[in-house]
Amino acid sequence: MRVRHLENDTIINVAQLLKAPVGTERYFTVHLDQLILDSDLAVRDVDAAVRLLRTSNGILATGDLRVTAHLTCVRCLTEFDGRFEETFEAEFWPTIDVLTGLPLPPPEDEDIFTIDKNHHLDLHELLRQFAVLAVPIYPVCGPQCPGPESLWQPPEEAVDARLAVLQALLDERA
Ligand SMILES: [Zn+2]
Repeated sequence: MRVRHLENDTIINVAQLLKAPVGTERYFTVHLDQLILDSDLAVRDVDAAVRLLRTSNGILATGDLRVTAHLTCVRCLTEFDGRFEETFEAEFWPTIDVLTGLPLPPPEDEDIFTIDKNHHLDLHELLRQFAVLAVPIYPVCGPQCPGPESLWQPPEEAVDARLAVLQALLDERA
């Protein structure tokens, strides 16, 4: 099995794959030193394994990615580096017919990515979206976390705790 590697690059020319029969596969590995997720969070050492599969509509990309994120533990407030993993699956549809050169109607589904007029499939936005999912919203530094658990509660539990206090007050009055 031939695997192509992309180093700090996310663009794949898929003209040949679009001309190949449905079911044809291509394999890639990607490494990015850094990936900016949004205005205040970036991850580093992104490693992804990607399979591109020619489908009747376009190309299905499946695979997994690993990222390193520098985070602050919600329990003990220490900063730490965590390695996180996520699997992905997404469709890419061509905007130009590879055989005729004629434009194709854009996909109605917003979750479908597009392949540009030069038959370049860019994995960047796919990797960014799934890296966002990989990074935990409430990071904990690890099972050895020394922080008292009482310092932090998930939001639902915090609401429950406030309601419990209110209920106790109401009970007292009754
Ligand atoms: Zn911690």
